[in-house]
Order: sequence, then structure tokens, then C-alpha cells
Amino acid sequence: MSGIPAARYGERLVAARREAAAAGLDALCIGVGADLRYLTGYEAMPLERLTMLLVPAADAAPLTLIAPRLEATPARTCAAAQAGAVEVATWEETEDPMALVAARLGDALGRDAADLRAIAINDTLRASFVLGLQRVLPSASFVLASSVLRRLRMAKDRDEVALLRSAAHAADRVVLAIAAGPLVGRTEADVAREVRDRLLAEGHEHAEFWIVASGPNSASPHHDPGERVIQAGEPIVIDIGGTVGGYGSDITRTVWVTGGDDAKGPDDDFRRLYDVLQRAQAEATAAVRPGIACEAIDGVARGIITDAGFGPMFFHRTGHGIGLEGHEEPYLVAGNAEPMAAGHAFSVEPGIYLEGRFGARIEDIVVCGEAGPDTLNEATRDLLVVAG
Ligand code: ZN
Ligand code: ZN
Ligand code: ZN
Repeated sequence: MSGIPAARYGERLVAARREAAAAGLDALCIGVGADLRYLTGYEAMPLERLTMLLVPAADAAPLTLIAPRLEATPARTCAAAQAGAVEVATWEETEDPMALVAARLGDALGRDAADLRAIAINDTLRASFVLGLQRVLPSASFVLASSVLRRLRMAKDRDEVALLRSAAHAADRVVLAIAAGPLVGRTEADVAREVRDRLLAEGHEHAEFWIVASGPNSASPHHDPGERVIQAGEPIVIDIGGTVGGYGSDITRTVWVTGGDDAKGPDDDFRRLYDVLQRAQAEATAAVRPGIACEAIDGVARGIITDAGFGPMFFHRTGHGIGLEGHEEPYLVAGNAEPMAAGHAFSVEPGIYLEGRFGARIEDIVVCGEAGPDTLNEATRDLLVVAG
């Protein structure tokens, strides 16, 4: 399932070239990762052999996708190559791929590669490739490609939102199936295995994370599920996700297992904590609209939690962007004045954690719509009190 029409990649490449030119860059050099997939549709293997998209910042200059000879077939079948938007150039096992990069850039720009001054590289490019570029482009200074691609990648188009929505709905079904039990008497690791299986069964091509944090472990936001056996009378924080058509799901729900014994329901302390959390998550989501600063959304959640006396127990940001990467811009955190715009997609996931006792988190994926929030997840955000 791709979900992104092939012609879209040509449009993205044109937009990327325009942004690069406006930023005064000579070219973008994009290695394997989310930026490459965004611009070409190519989900390349991260190898020690160089794969790199060259986007010279001059109108009509040819775009080249450089690939090792043995990756020629997947490179040539990527959407952008199929659509004729990029030309694939391969290098042989004994060649220096960086010499090919320099030659292609020089030809495309009609200049000596040694004279190029400003190059953007993707944020996750391997150090060995960065040093290789520095060797063949000795006059160039390097900046991160996110400085020019972030604006494009943050604004999800209709097809990207559709993929995020189908990923969210699949994750909704998984979390509700897990909450339906059985849970009591099983280890966290065993439930986590069920999460992975169900994510795949519900249409994810990859399961990527499967936090199952029971009892006191629920107070650790990124708990790694282990051999602890789930007991009646405690909460479980379930935070899971994977990808559908390359786009991520990421949902957290908190369950309380009673073992069928009403006397083992949530105590007043946990009820109060959860009520505050649920209000914070709902109000932060409701505040989403074009133009509001990302940090203001964090401020809404943090204000409610702090006023209730739990401020120090909410020690992470309220959310992160999501798309081709599980964590990407924009980040909902104090200090990020970035204004939200229609199409921004991100999590809203406050949590409250009482070390040694218990914790809870509620997380949805939300898209900023023209008129306000579009919450992609539909599973109830109420505390799930189940027999387990
Ligand atoms: Zn996280
Ligand atoms: Zn999560
Ligand atoms: Zn998240």
C-alpha cells in the first residue's frame, strides 16, 4: 500500500528545489531515510554503500538518484524514477561513489564541483558520507536539509492524512482488543508479543514499538516490557505503534484490571490523577487550530496538570510530529514558537507518573485542520476498567 500518487513525488521535488534555491543553496544531497522516501518514494536499505539523491538548485537541472549497482532494480522502480522525475545513476563496486556525486553536481550546475559553496544534507546522513562529501566538495559549507524540507514535510497532504488515519484506526482496534484481555496472570512481554502480532494483522507493514507497563512500571514512560506478571488491581499503560504505507500510528491508552473483583477497582488517588490527565489531554487537543504556537498546546496541558498539583510528575513534552518518521517536527514543547498550520500532524500525549506507585498517559494523533483539531484516533479515552 503506497497511497501516494506517483505524480506527487515530482511536485515535491519541484518544491524542494524551489526551497533550496530560495535558501541560497547549490544543492540538496539526500541519503537514505525519511527525506529520500518523501521526495522519491524510495524506501532504500540503510547500507554502508552510498545511495544519494542529488537535487541541484537550478531550474531544469537534472535530478540524479545515485545507487550502488546491486540496488539498481529497487532504485529504478521507485515512484520518482518511474515517473521520470529523477535519473538513476549506478556505481560499480570498485568505483568511488563520491566522485560520481561531484561529477553529477558539477554537470547539472555547469560549474566545477570544487567551487560549490552551500550544500544541504539530510539530518541522518552517516558521518562517513558527510566526510566523503567534504572531500569532494572542499569549498562547500553544509547545513541540514531539514532547514529547507521541514516546512514541506510538516504540512501533510490529503493522501498522507488518509494513511495516518488508517494507521490510527488500525491501532485503535489493536488497543481495544488488548484491553479486552486476557491480561491478569500474563507477563508484560507476552502481551507485547500479542501487540506486535495484532498490529501486523490489522494492516501495519511494520510493528515498531509495544510498551506494556503494568503496576509500578506504568510510572516509567518508555518502559521495556519484561517478565513482570500482571496482577489484578493495577493499571497498565499500553503505548503502541507501527506503520501503514510508511506513515506511523502511535496510541496510548491506560487500562485498569480488576480480575473481576470490584474491590480491586481503581482507588480514589488513581481516579483523581486520571481525571486531571483526561481533562488536560482533551483541552490541549481542543486548543489546536492554525496559527497557535506549538508551545501553547503544551502550555494548556501543563497548566491543567500543574494546577492540580501534578506538575513535577509530567516531565516530558506534550507531543511530537508524526509522518514518515515516528518522531518528527513539529514538537509540542515549551520554547517552540512554531505556529501550527493546517496539515500538521502530531501526538497529544500528556502523562502523570508517580514513581514507585503508578502512572497514566493518554495519547492521540491529531491533525490541525482549517477549523480546529481532527483527532485521528477514535478509541475511547476514558479509563478502561476491565476484568482483565
Ligand atoms: Zn515516546
Ligand atoms: Zn506513543
Ligand atoms: Zn508518541
